[in-house]
Amino acid sequence: MFDLETIRADFPILSRQVNGRPLVYLDNGASAQKPRAVIEAVTRAYAEEYANVHRGLHYLSNLATDKYEAVRGTIARFLKAPHEDEIVFTSGTTEGINLVSYGWAAPRMAPGDEIVLSVLEHHANIVPWHFLRERQGVVLRWVEPEADGSLDPERVLAAVGPRTRLIAVTQMSNVLGTIVDVAAICAGARARGVPVLVDGSQAAVHMPIDLGAIGCDFYAVTGHKLYGPSGSGAIWIARDRQAEMRPFLGGGDMIREVTREGVSYADPPMKFEAGTPGIVQQIGLGVALDYLMALGMENVARHEAALRDYAQARLAGLNWLNVQGSAPDRGAIFSFTLQGAAHAHDISTVLDKRGIAVRAGTHCAMPLMQHLGMGATCRASFALYNTPAEVDALCDALEFCHDLFG
Ligand code: PLP
Repeated sequence: MFDLETIRADFPILSRQVNGRPLVYLDNGASAQKPRAVIEAVTRAYAEEYANVHRGLHYLSNLATDKYEAVRGTIARFLKAPHEDEIVFTSGTTEGINLVSYGWAAPRMAPGDEIVLSVLEHHANIVPWHFLRERQGVVLRWVEPEADGSLDPERVLAAVGPRTRLIAVTQMSNVLGTIVDVAAICAGARARGVPVLVDGSQAAVHMPIDLGAIGCDFYAVTGHKLYGPSGSGAIWIARDRQAEMRPFLGGGDMIREVTREGVSYADPPMKFEAGTPGIVQQIGLGVALDYLMALGMENVARHEAALRDYAQARLAGLNWLNVQGSAPDRGAIFSFTLQGAAHAHDISTVLDKRGIAVRAGTHCAMPLMQHLGMGATCRASFALYNTPAEVDALCDALEFCHDLFG
């Protein structure tokens, strides 16, 4: 059941005012707000159920361990992952992709080996590969989007050569909202024997994910965009890839035995989870994913598609606004500038004075911004709790900016 008023009431922060106006939160691409169920679960975990996990033989440690470990199953269900032990907890996508870079890619790549990645990528899916370029002479092969911002799977596959060892690609651009047909990329990559890492940071928030249907090898998500706590997240790693990986961080929890002479490791996924983890963060993420699954990701996607269409039509009516990207398959993320001299930061400051939160800048996607020839844009990114009235509020505020700066 998807009732917008009930849903909005679930998110306490949405009823606050900012600068004397009702908050219009359109910075969901950066981080989403949290439902009361998550806030209460986090409070309860600290107030009543807190201890370190995996190590104690006492009641609270066992309770915390059970709650924490149960989240692996919740994430697996949310992503339709074949096996629960393929879920590796991380602090977010950045850590997940770095784990793959250090643990899987670095030991198996030689100078001249290639990684194919798209110009749409967030820095989290670029910089870990630049590390391999800098340190071991790996070559990055960049695939450009089409003029409308879509990414043609055939173009990605055409960049694959005999030295390609990995394709790293996002499922949704955090700047343009472009949705990428990652299943088509994975099918072609499999036929060529090339593993695929999918950055699901944005996509998993807005549409149902079925990892079996996608057919990738690595799939990273970040909890704070999924209405969970910051510092939570996971990367799904197919069993056969896990078997090829060396651990990334060393410390407690990831070992079977440590002696003066050496160390043997725990089985995956623990092998890749060193040290005290984000216990309460992951428990909160589990509650957030339960919340999303109760709403139904199909319903979330349907609501956001309607919002996207409405916002697209209204923004198109502002003929002094340059909206970047017009891919036929896109989510409700819009990056734009105002014709004339107004800087994106000035626009966002004026919007903020009217209670509207957007992001301004290069959105951790500098290669894409360079490709678009843009210095900085404003970005309005919508979530399941946003309303058509908030689209109207954004457009009214942009009209005000146009009058002010025009
Ligand atoms: N990938 C994409 C597409 C993103 O939008 C983001 C966050 O903005 C990230 C990766 C990085 O996520 P995190 O900073 O939570 O690790």
